[in-house]
Amino acid sequence: MKFADNPQQATEYLRRAIPLMVKGGISPTPLNYALWYVYVSKALPALNQQMDKTLEIYGTCPNRISEVLFRDFLIKDEIENAEVVQQALLSVMGDLESSASSTVQDTEAYNEVLQESLAALKDKNDNQGLESIIQNLTVNTETISESTRQFQKKIDEAQAEISKLKKELNQSRQEATIDPLTGLYNRRVFDTEIGQLASLPQPDVSLVMLDIDYFKKFNDSYGHQMGDKVLQYVAQLIKEECSEPLLPVRFGGEEFSMLLPGIKAAEACKLAEKVRKKVAAIRIKQKQSGDIISSVTASFGVARLEADESPENLIARADAALYKAKEAGRNNVQMAN
Ligand code: GH3
Ligand code: MG
Ligand code: MG
Repeated sequence: MKFADNPQQATEYLRRAIPLMVKGGISPTPLNYALWYVYVSKALPALNQQMDKTLEIYGTCPNRISEVLFRDFLIKDEIENAEVVQQALLSVMGDLESSASSTVQDTEAYNEVLQESLAALKDKNDNQGLESIIQNLTVNTETISESTRQFQKKIDEAQAEISKLKKELNQSRQEATIDPLTGLYNRRVFDTEIGQLASLPQPDVSLVMLDIDYFKKFNDSYGHQMGDKVLQYVAQLIKEECSEPLLPVRFGGEEFSMLLPGIKAAEACKLAEKVRKKVAAIRIKQKQSGDIISSVTASFGVARLEADESPENLIARADAALYKAKEAGRNNVQMAN
């Protein structure tokens, strides 16, 4: 399903969803936020019917059922949905945070004034009548101080909870865009970006595809873990050459790509050549002896996005150039036709 809700509307739905979730003891996960967001928006009557039935039976919505409902009703647009919900959630959190900190400031200021006047009165006092007023004031101040402390504690707890939720959300967003082994962007981000670039009138967009040579043999000789380390190292070299807006991507397995908006083909070839040299300079040493046991190379294919070319076609041409580089003996860069 699609969400056309504007930010105010989305925030309002979330404001309504949160108390219901708290009441039902629902865990604050992105999945649950998405589910309850749609529930209060009443966008899917069939979902509301099932949730109402579940609430009637259980008094809440058990995780197991939430997951099924999420899958059945929302999974198709999982990503867009999570984006909307996360944006809305972050804006609610922002509001909460600012109102919480201003309340803390107010109460702190109030407390300070009270304490100061009390001190002043105490200093000047040599009179019985005043003494009892001070006694009274002291008791009152202590009560106020205590309730302020309690209030502040609650706010601190809420703020800690907000920070935790923010962290969880950032983490789930990170998981959706970043390849966990290498830290490069994943295929999902690549597909979105290349689609966007191909749909705009872009003067210069280049694509570099690279594939590590004889990597199966490397794994067989030195083990998968050592192989993973090589992937991480190569990824780091690629990342170093791709400052924003250049996009370093783990395309899959031992294949990487660099999507290069604003970069002409000749420049892209130079960049590929630079990475090729750096990869070829990697030396793998044995831990104990420090002896060099192996080196690594990669092959590269470069293509420039043509006018009105589809992303699929651009990838296929860069891939064909990469294949040519393999055919030409590996450890080299080839330009697409
Ligand atoms: P070529 O020069 O033709 O590219 O040969 P190759 O051996 O690199 O190509 P092939 O496609 O036959 O093998 C790719 C290997 O990459 C096989 C697979 O075990 C390895 N590989 C893919 N993903 C990973 C990974 O995440 N970690 C490790 N260690 N190895 C991986
Ligand atoms: Mg491969
Ligand atoms: Mg390979």
